[in-house]
Amino acid sequence: MLACSRRCGGRLFRALFAEVELDAAGEFQDFRIAQPGYICLNCGAPAFDLGEVPAEMEAEAQAEAKESKPAAVDILCPVCETMVQVDEGMECPNCGSPLEVA
Ligand SMILES: [Zn+2]
Ligand SMILES: [Zn+2]
Repeated sequence: MLACSRRCGGRLFRALFAEVELDAAGEFQDFRIAQPGYICLNCGAPAFDLGEVPAEMEAEAQAEAKESKPAAVDILCPVCETMVQVDEGMECPNCGSPLEVA
């Protein structure tokens, strides 16, 4: 489903990268969207395919989640002296004592 980015309520859109198939008489037979890209025929603003947006937004959200996740840190447990890789607020997986990430 297509939607105007200005939400003007327009119901007609033009595909910017469509290939039209004609028969020998030049009559329209079929079309194919070569690349997603649409404009609203009502106001001329770019339009987008609502069906494709969630997937893109999900990919962006996943990329952001990766970036914002604190990096795991290697620290030496003061109790059992094991080098452990922990995120903030974790306990030593070896002896269970709380660890502070500097
Ligand atoms: Zn519009
Ligand atoms: Zn430990």
